[in-house]
Amino acid sequence: MMELHILGTASARPTSTRNVSGSVLSTEEGLVVIDAGEGFQNRYSAQRSLMKRSGQNASLRPHKIAAITLTHGHLDHTWGLLPFLQTLALDGRNHPLMIYGPTSQSVWDALQSNGFNAEVPENTPSADLINQYRAWFQLGAKSNELGYEVRWMLGEPHSNKWVELNPDGSSLMWHEQMPQPEPFKSIRLDALATKHSVPSCAWQITKAARYTRTISDPFETWIMALSLSHPQCRFIRSYRPPICCCISSIGMFMFCNCARSPDSSRLLKNSCSLACIS
Ligand SMILES: [Zn+2]
Repeated sequence: MMELHILGTASARPTSTRNVSGSVLSTEEGLVVIDAGEGFQNRYSAQRSLMKRSGQNASLRPHKIAAITLTHGHLDHTWGLLPFLQTLALDGRNHPLMIYGPTSQSVWDALQSNGFNAEVPENTPSADLINQYRAWFQLGAKSNELGYEVRWMLGEPHSNKWVELNPDGSSLMWHEQMPQPEPFKSIRLDALATKHSVPSCAWQITKAARYTRTISDPFETWIMALSLSHPQCRFIRSYRPPICCCISSIGMFMFCNCARSPDSSRLLKNSCSLACIS
C-alpha cells in the first residue's frame, strides 16, 4: 500500500491554513519526498508525531527516505531542503540519499561542454536548480561534510538524460536513464516534463505488477505534480496511456493511472491513504 502524506500545498506563499509545498510518499521499498519548501522538516516531524499517536510511527522514519524529488527550483519548493539534509546528518544517517531535480537543455549542454564548473548560460533563471545545487554545496551539502552519501541528480526531463554532480570531487557522471534509488526493486521513479516559468517536472511513481492487488491491474502509476495550474494539469493529462485525474479539495493534484482499471476513485480508496496537516 502506498500512503501519501500531504504536508504543504500552498502556492508561492503560505496561507493561514496551508503551508508551502512538500509531501512524503510512503511505499513498501522506501519513502519519497516530493518538494521541500520552507519549514518542511517541521511539518514532517509533526506528521510523524501524529502517526505515532495513532500507532503508525514506523512508516515515516526518516532513515527510510530513499529519494528527494524536486518539481522545480522555486524557493517555495526547495527552501527547506538544506536544513532537512543537515537534520538527517544529526540523526546519524549513514546510507545514500538520492536527490533529483530538473534543469534546462542549455544548462545540460553547458555542463557537457565545460564540466562541473561550467558557467551557466546567460538567460538561465536564478531559480534553475543548477544554481541552487551549487549554493547548497557551498553551504555544506557535500557528502564528506554531511557524513552520508548524497547523489545529486540533474535531469533534462524532455530527453530524460541525467547527470550526477559530485561536489566532493568536482566531477560529473552522465546517465542515459535516470538512476533509480538503491532500495527500489519493483517501484520506479520517473520525471515527466511540465510547463512552468523555470525547468520543471512531475514525478511518476510506478509499482510493478507483482505488487498490485489483482491480475487485472498490470501496474499502478502515480504522478505527483504539486501546485500546478489547470493548463499544466491538462498538459500532463495528455500523456499516454490516459491518466485519470483527481483534484483534491485542498488543491493538490494527484494523477492515478491503472492501465486496465481507470477508476481513480477506487484506486485512491484501495491503494493509498491520505493524511493532511497543512
Ligand atoms: Zn513555481
